[in-house]
Parts: sequence; C-alpha cells; structure tokens
Amino acid sequence: MNTPISSAIVPGPVRNWLENLSKGNLGSINVLAGESETFDVMDPGTASPLTSLPVSSEEVVGTAVRNARRAFEGGSWRNESPDQRERVLLKLADLVERDFQFLSVVEALDTGKPLEEAKFDIEEVATVLRYYAGWSNKVSGQTIATPFELSAMTIKGPVGVCAAITPWNYPLPILMYKLAPALAFGNSFVAKPSELAPLSAIYFAQLCEEAGVPEGVVNIVLGAGATGSALASNPDLDKIAFTGSSRTGQAIMTAAAKNTTKVTLELGGKSPQVVFASSNLAKSVEGVARGIWTNAGQVCVAGSRLIVEKSIKTEFLNELERFTNSYFVGHSLDSRSTMGPIISMAQQEKIRGVLDGAVSDGAELHEYGRVSDVAGFFQRPTVIDGLSSSHSTHQEEIFGPVITVSTFESEAEAIELANSTRYGLAAGIWTGQAGQGHRVAKSITSGTVWINTYGTFHPTLPFGGTKSSGFGRELGESAIDAYTELKTVVEDISE
Ligand code: NAD
Repeated sequence: MNTPISSAIVPGPVRNWLENLSKGNLGSINVLAGESETFDVMDPGTASPLTSLPVSSEEVVGTAVRNARRAFEGGSWRNESPDQRERVLLKLADLVERDFQFLSVVEALDTGKPLEEAKFDIEEVATVLRYYAGWSNKVSGQTIATPFELSAMTIKGPVGVCAAITPWNYPLPILMYKLAPALAFGNSFVAKPSELAPLSAIYFAQLCEEAGVPEGVVNIVLGAGATGSALASNPDLDKIAFTGSSRTGQAIMTAAAKNTTKVTLELGGKSPQVVFASSNLAKSVEGVARGIWTNAGQVCVAGSRLIVEKSIKTEFLNELERFTNSYFVGHSLDSRSTMGPIISMAQQEKIRGVLDGAVSDGAELHEYGRVSDVAGFFQRPTVIDGLSSSHSTHQEEIFGPVITVSTFESEAEAIELANSTRYGLAAGIWTGQAGQGHRVAKSITSGTVWINTYGTFHPTLPFGGTKSSGFGRELGESAIDAYTELKTVVEDISE
C-alpha cells in the first residue's frame, strides 16, 4: 500500500509561501497574473498539489511585453552604466545564496529531484549570475580599416525585448542561462517558466525587485502551452530563447517566423555514450550510470544510448547493474532518495507505454534499484537490451531513466552508431587510448562531446545543439552574440 508523505516534512516558510501563492499573493509586481483561470502545481513525489496559480491570458502576456518594451525604450536599464548592471547581477547572486535553502527546497519539491541535486542547481544559478555580471562591462566592438577616408567601428548594444520559454527539468538554471546575459547587456525580458515547475521563477522575480532591477525590465507570465504560444506570437519581441522539446521548438519557430523574430532553440537529445574496451571500467560504468540516472533521465543531455564494444558488453552490463542497484527512487525530501520521480503522471504513463512496446518487440528489460512506497510517479532505472539500433527506443527521446544498449566491433562502427539519430546535442566517449577520444569526438555530430567525463556544465562552456537538437549557443562568450546586436558606425573624416 502507498503511504502518503506528510506535508509536515515541507519546511514552514516554504509551506506558508505556497499557501500565499494559492491565495493569489505572488509577491512581486514582476509576475503578471490573470484573473479567471488557475492551474495546480504538483509535487510529483506525492502526486498531490503544492499550490495553485493563475494563468496569464493572451491579454496579460501582451501587457508583459508592453511593460518590457516601455522599460527598454525608457532606458532605465539599457542606459544604466555597465558597472551598475554588474553590481545588480552580483547582488542577485548574493540574494540567491542568502535564500539558498528556501530556493533549493522549492526547486526540489516542484521538480521532484532529490534535495542534494536541487542544491547543486541553485549553486549553479549564483555562479551563472556572477559570470555574466563580469561580462557587463567587458563587451566592446572593433575599429575597422577601410580604403576610404572613413572612420568605421562596430558597437554592441542590447537586442531589445527578449522572451524566454523554459522547461521544467532545470527550471532556474535554464532561465538563468538566458536572463543573466540578457540583463548584463541591457535587455528587457519576459519569461514563461514551465507550468510543471514555475515556482522558483516566481520567487526569483521578487529577488530581482530587491536587487534593484528597474520596474518592467523583468516580467514573468504563467501558464502552459497557450500562454507560451501567446508569447511566441507577440509581434513586439526582438528575440525568443526557447529550451524544451523539438516539437514545441518547431511551433515556436513557426510563430516567430511570422514576425521575423530571431530565435535560439535548445531542444531534445538522444545522446550516445560510446564505451571502448580500453576504458577504465569502474570510471566508465559510473559515468554512464550518472549520465542517464541523474534527474531520473529527464535531462536534455541524458546519455540514453549505451554503445559498448562487444567484447566487454556482458562485464559492463553486470557492473552497471551492481552500481545501479544501490539507487533508491523516492520523494525529493526523503534523505534516502538518490533518484526522484517522473515529472507527471502523463510522462510516467508514456514511459511505461514505451517499455511495454519494447517488450512486445522482443526486448529484454532490466529494472534496477529500490523504490519508495509513497504515491509518487516513480520509475526505476531501466536497461533495454536486444533491439536493433533503428528501433524507436534507440531513436526517440524517452525522457526517463531508460538506457538502450547496442554494440560495435570497430571505431568506425561506433561513430556510425553514435551519429545514427536525428539529434545532435551531446555525446560521451570512454576510452583508455591516447588520441582516440579526440579523433572520435571530431567525427561525432553534436554540440558537446565529453571524453572520459559526462554532463559537466559550467558558465564558461558554450552549450547548444545541432540537427534536431536546435541551434544557437548559450553560456560562455557565445551568449554575448545571442544577447547583443552588432551595429556598424561609419563617419566621413575627409574634412
Ligand atoms: P516542452 O516542449 O513540453 O515545454 C517547454 C516549454 O514550452 C514549457 O514552458 C511549455 O509550457 C511551453 N510550450 C508548450 N507548448 C508551447 C507552444 N505551442 N508554444 C509556446 N510554448 C509552448 O518541454 P518540457 O517537457 O518542459 O521539457 C522537456 C524537453 O525539453 C525535452 O525534450 C528535453 O530534451 C528538452 N530540454 C532541452 C534542453 C537543452 O538545453 N537542449 C534542456 C532541458 C530540456
């Protein structure tokens, strides 16, 4: 029988805040709410609502974009000195650290991920803010030599009103990959967090006010696809930054095309983990396991295809089983949990459907680890073996703790298998041979390749996809191009 997890395990201040939200007290003028419709925000670890929130209608989305436009044209932020923008971003990072415990618990409850993983995410938010704070006053253009009596230069200014539509799996870090550089370079911003995990964005809106971001510069709207669609179709945006599924990315690109709004798309993946027999087995097993089981496999860069050299397949899978059997799948605030639930019942059912389909197509299915008896949307870590690499389980993103297995006998075959899907987000290579990692990395089509490590992110490292995984890069210096507009200024100096 399922035992309900008591709401008493939720710390008092978080419980009070959630209660206030459900009464319509959103805590910040930066969050623009509707009046009639509401939606429930669930704890996927208990399958019960945490709070309920208002849906921002198309009209409210229009108001948010107008606020952002007014703030941009008014110049309160874009004409602010870069040093002051740096100070505000640094203050925001300090505030995130001040409220670290609160934000971590909110993010854990909302996404279902174990509290320790959520803490890691909130630490990353502060790091990203500090990284882009540093860039605020370091972006400059060029002077250009021409054959005429001209003085020519380029300058980099803000893009204008930027929109962000974000997913639920890393809610605040993914929002920060967009918001931090946008603010650093003087843009105004409208964000729609996922309806499945919007809470940390609402709290962050309050911190923006406290840090001194001027009114109208940051706007948050709430709701699901209809709110996102209203935002993506708004003709007064200068840019849309989207992270989410490939299908939604296509819809956003179509909406943006009608207004010639520029877009960057960070989409889904089906990332290969290529393991050569020469690799350090203990290290590659742990790397592959963490690469797929982290966040219950609900990660864009989840290493969801194991491509292992045939001679070590049995030994590798035995070790993977041994390692994975230590996992405990449970509630985010249960200290035993090393893996959380699937985000929603619909997604849990989708995964079960994929697994049942795989079995009817002849797969061997192995489910490992222990699972809590609370009523969450749990799925144990699962290995699918015995299906051809053209089977849909090898080709399509499952977005759960599920890894497929295929084998190779030569380096060329490994590369062919690695490149054999429509995605191109990330890849892992595990090898003990000098030179092989870089050689194979050059031949794999993806935005990131990790060699003898997996899933390492840092604000200094550009991130993004190729093929159906999208285009554009976030993080690192690449975000300067994404959030500034280049202007060429030419002057006649003949007289
Ligand atoms: P999703 O595409 O269902 O939703 C993402 C966001 O788009 C949400 O805010 C949602 O409300 C909104 N949305 C839905 N329909 C819309 C529409 N028609 N117009 C505008 N907005 C709309 O994705 P998800 O389930 O939240 O996240 C999982 C997906 O995100 C996976 O495919 C995963 O690989 C991908 N992802 C990619 C990255 C990356 O950096 N490449 C990172 C994390 C997640």
